[in-house]
Amino acid sequence: MPNAQADRRRRRRIRRGAFGIIMLISVAALGAAWSLRQAAIVETEGDLRRLSVMLAEQAARAFQAADLMLQAVVEQVEMTVASAEEGLVPDFSTEVAHMALIRRIANLPQVEAMTILDAAGVSINATRVWPPRRTALGDRMYFRHFLNTDDRRAFVSEAVINRVNGDQTVYLARRLTAADGSFVGVVNAAINLAYFDEVFAAAGFLEGTGVTMARADGAVLKRFPPPPDGTVGEVLTAPGWYATSAAGGGGYLSPGTLDDHGERFVYVRPVPGYGMFVNATRLETAVLWRWQRQVMALAAAVVVASLLTAYLAIVLNRQFTAITRAHRRAVAHSIALRASETRLREKSTALEASETRLTETTQILRTTLEHMNQGILMVDGQGRVAVANRRASHLLDLPPEMFDGRMRFAEIAAFQRTNGEFDNLSPAQRETIGRGETFIDPVTYERRRPNGTTLEIRSVPLPGGGMVRTYTDITARAEAEGMLALAASHDQLTGLANRNGFGQRLDKALLTAQRGGETLSVLCLDLDGFKAVNDTHGHEVGDLLLQRVAACMREVLRDVDLLARMGGDEFSIVLGRTDMERAARVAQRLLDAVRQPHTIAGHRVMVGVSIGIAAYPLDGGTVEQLLRNGDAALYQAKAGGRNRWCAYTSDIGDRERQRMALETDLREAVAKRRFTLAYQPICDVNTTEPVAFEALLRWDHPLRGAVSPGEFIPLAEQTGLIVDLGRWALEAACAEAAAWALPVRVAVNLSPAQFRDPDLLGFVRDVLLRTGLAASRLELELTEGLLLEQNDHVVGVMQALRALGVRMVLDDFGTANSNLSYLRGFPFDAVKIDRSFLRALSSDRQARALVEAMLAMSRALGLDVVGEGVETQEQLTMLRHLRCDRVQGYLLGRPETGEVAREGLWQRASRRGDVARLSASGQNNNALR
Ligand code: C2E
Ligand code: CA
Ligand code: CA
Repeated sequence: MPNAQADRRRRRRIRRGAFGIIMLISVAALGAAWSLRQAAIVETEGDLRRLSVMLAEQAARAFQAADLMLQAVVEQVEMTVASAEEGLVPDFSTEVAHMALIRRIANLPQVEAMTILDAAGVSINATRVWPPRRTALGDRMYFRHFLNTDDRRAFVSEAVINRVNGDQTVYLARRLTAADGSFVGVVNAAINLAYFDEVFAAAGFLEGTGVTMARADGAVLKRFPPPPDGTVGEVLTAPGWYATSAAGGGGYLSPGTLDDHGERFVYVRPVPGYGMFVNATRLETAVLWRWQRQVMALAAAVVVASLLTAYLAIVLNRQFTAITRAHRRAVAHSIALRASETRLREKSTALEASETRLTETTQILRTTLEHMNQGILMVDGQGRVAVANRRASHLLDLPPEMFDGRMRFAEIAAFQRTNGEFDNLSPAQRETIGRGETFIDPVTYERRRPNGTTLEIRSVPLPGGGMVRTYTDITARAEAEGMLALAASHDQLTGLANRNGFGQRLDKALLTAQRGGETLSVLCLDLDGFKAVNDTHGHEVGDLLLQRVAACMREVLRDVDLLARMGGDEFSIVLGRTDMERAARVAQRLLDAVRQPHTIAGHRVMVGVSIGIAAYPLDGGTVEQLLRNGDAALYQAKAGGRNRWCAYTSDIGDRERQRMALETDLREAVAKRRFTLAYQPICDVNTTEPVAFEALLRWDHPLRGAVSPGEFIPLAEQTGLIVDLGRWALEAACAEAAAWALPVRVAVNLSPAQFRDPDLLGFVRDVLLRTGLAASRLELELTEGLLLEQNDHVVGVMQALRALGVRMVLDDFGTANSNLSYLRGFPFDAVKIDRSFLRALSSDRQARALVEAMLAMSRALGLDVVGEGVETQEQLTMLRHLRCDRVQGYLLGRPETGEVAREGLWQRASRRGDVARLSASGQNNNALR
């Protein structure tokens, strides 16, 4: 933690700082103590010098005064005594001389006495007594000094105790010399050293101060304060003294040799002329006493200061810790504060942004709502209308004010009910609508309003209760789908059910019959001689005839019976709750009804009918079986001479056997590839230039002749031969197209059964690789029947094929279950409108509306539209108007052989100048992609 480290560092700094201050104070104090000591010593030196100078002066004066007296006697002796023989005695042993001596010392208090000794050392005169006692003093140091030496200077003796008064005395002596220079005696003055007591006392000594008077040889003459035991004859031993005195005086530090009081400061001053010195001394302890006191005070101050500093450091440290803590808290606070400030700022920014977005979104939403083609209504958790757009009120024919004041949804529903909005609904539907508000999953339903419009109503529940409901006007789509559904199950021409519708209704009828244990009959009809009418009078008459025949047959039947046109001139009938007997009766009546002559467009035409009957449950239990057996019976009837009916019997398996014979042939033909492909152009609706060719299978049987694909393809599908056959057709078509001179597409029909081929996708990919045809040049046509088998596999394969680049086309659009929303689940690129629609285009208004609707739907789904079966110019023009993309039909080109198609393309290419390019590119089709 860097903070803790910094703290520790700071504390250490404080400790060091305090220690430093204490050291500084101590050093300063030491310095001060040292300098104080020096000052004390210097001061003492000064004091001692002054004292010694003064005392030396005093001593000198006292000795000089005495010496003057001695010198006077010396002069007198020299003048009066001529020689040694003469001696002193006559003149100087007299009373007069004695008196003169007394006079001489009368004014000298320091001089106790004066004595004159003769050459033998006997005192011959003295100031103290009269007559002289004639004491032999020849043993005295001063006498012996002068006796032996002709020394004319004064001599100072050692201190001696005066025998008379016990005082310490020093003898100052001089040599007495006769005029001839011979030794005649000594004169001395006894100087009472007590005299110096007064002098010394007058100096006013401080404690520890002392004075010593000593001879140059170290003999102590006088000491103050005196030695305690009154010792006399002390000798100075300190070598420092000798050195100093020899140098003529000065200061030194003595170890204290005369007593044990310790070291002393000494100042030595010579007393000139007498070989004496005065030492002023002071005990070091005395000198340093005050200093010591000062040092003590200083030390105390240092201690106090140090303690104070330490205390301050501690206090500082504590304070610092507290401050650090407070600071840290403050920092933490400020960081937290700043963070929360930032958060706050961010929040407020986000809030502003979201507010702006909200405003924008609201604006966009409002605009969207108002311009939506859908009505929208939002009901909140309380069942009130929170949002509604104008389109909603418009689609529901509700006054717009109803949505203004957050009206209850239930009130709106009640309003609608009173206005008869739900009158045309079935009770069950009405109940559903009543429950409208309580649901969990999204609900979608269609409702036809009383005014004829159809609404798709989708309700999505909201998490917090309430719902969003959208209303889409699907009138156009509903109508188109209605028509398509009708078309899917009804025949355009006659308005009867078609094959599709027939199958569905027969299925239902069988179910009912099975449940009720009833019987029913299926009649298969085929007109006789219709082709001739068609060929003679044309399609239009043919068509009208079909309508008339249908009407006639209808009249024969009951309402519950089902009549359907299966295609061309084929019809089928289901007779409910009918046994064979009645079926035969009805068949006969139908024969009669059809057989009568009809006048159509001024033409009198006749047509017959052959009928095959199959009974449920006797002849089959399924639609297929019944139809197959009915057909077999019909074949029988035709074979029996036409215009008759025939009931199915077990021996009518003949036809079945024929079919089996055909199947055997087909199997062989497939194995031996006895097929060819015919190519029919698919053209641009405006230029009528071919943009693609549809490959159509042709089977030329050596005995049967040309077998129609309408015959063998269903058989191939039923038997599974279509997989093999289809593979061959695909490869042959791609190989052919790869050789074309123009990069037009090739359309190959793909049977739903081919999706059972597990490797359909892989095969297509391989064929494209093998033939070198670009995937984008291949179209696969799928019939609508496939859609009934919608499953993930089919859709997956289709998507994979499209991913390769292959185009997927919905064939025969409109003939089967053409629910558009159902169709949306398949990935198609184009739809091919079935040729049955085209045929009715010019005459039938409904057909036209239907084609229009289909085109609109297809375009809405992003699909190209191909019109199939264009036989007339009129049809072509119409398709152009309807903005169909491509067209196919006999008008533009019949199916032709591969060579013819190839040749045609070469010619076109050469006209357009593409041949050169093609030759140059070595026929490489990839170059044309
Ligand atoms: P489709 O796929 O609808 O083919 C179009 C049929 O309409 C062809 O009959 C064609 O000759 C015919 N057609 C073309 N234009 C006109 C016209 O203007 N008027 C009239 N009345 N008819 C026209 P086609 O060749 O007899 O083929 C019959 C059906 O056989 C085809 O109907 C297709 O479903 C099936 N088919 C033909 N070749 C193949 C094939 O290679 N594979 C599969 N799976 N089915 C095929
Ligand atoms: Ca086709
Ligand atoms: Ca077709």
